[in-house]
Amino acid sequence: MKVLVVEDEKKIASFIRKGLEAQGFVVDVAHHGDDGYALALSRPYHALVLDIMLPGRDGLSILRNLRERRSTVPVILLTARSELNERLEGLNLGADDYLTKPFYIEELIARLQAVARRSTGTPASLLEVADLTLNLITREVQRAGRRIDLTPREFSLLEHLMRSPGRVLTRIQICEQVWSYHFDPGSNLVDVYVQRLRRKIDSDAPVPLIETIRGVGYRIRSVIR
Ligand code: CA
Repeated sequence: MKVLVVEDEKKIASFIRKGLEAQGFVVDVAHHGDDGYALALSRPYHALVLDIMLPGRDGLSILRNLRERRSTVPVILLTARSELNERLEGLNLGADDYLTKPFYIEELIARLQAVARRSTGTPASLLEVADLTLNLITREVQRAGRRIDLTPREFSLLEHLMRSPGRVLTRIQICEQVWSYHFDPGSNLVDVYVQRLRRKIDSDAPVPLIETIRGVGYRIRSVIR
């Protein structure tokens, strides 16, 4: 996977490069916004990592200009904690995700892999099951128009269930997809999270969407009957 990183702080740029290269990514780095934009236009990348504050063209301008040119390359923005408005503007401009500094390199890797997976399939940013919707870009979840706040882990669990409605996911599959590690059969981690998710998604609704398949795992109903 080939990634362009546009970041003017050399220490951060080199930390990202080393981390990504160690995972087998091919990485180009630009320290100036104009150089970054020129590279993004001239070479094919699977994803871009754009800092917002840059000398020359800033990260949001690069993103805007690329989208104006109909580029659909996945973009992850790097933002400072204080840059809430920039973050929202970035998502509106078509950024796929963002990370707030400081971050662990593992987070960036996970998000790059996620945006790459999404961009090769259908670019659906909205998952919909019955009256439940999950927006992968704004990370908003609603049931019957009511907004539901989820933790990142709960969101990921719901995302995996909603990606294959009607299909039973075993506890082992859920654990590997949501927690990325091998399942300890004695652990009730998955069940605990499913119960939490159920309280948020199903408790106020006339028809529950999350079903327990005894001895196997869980699934989300594909339709409400
Ligand atoms: Ca910067």
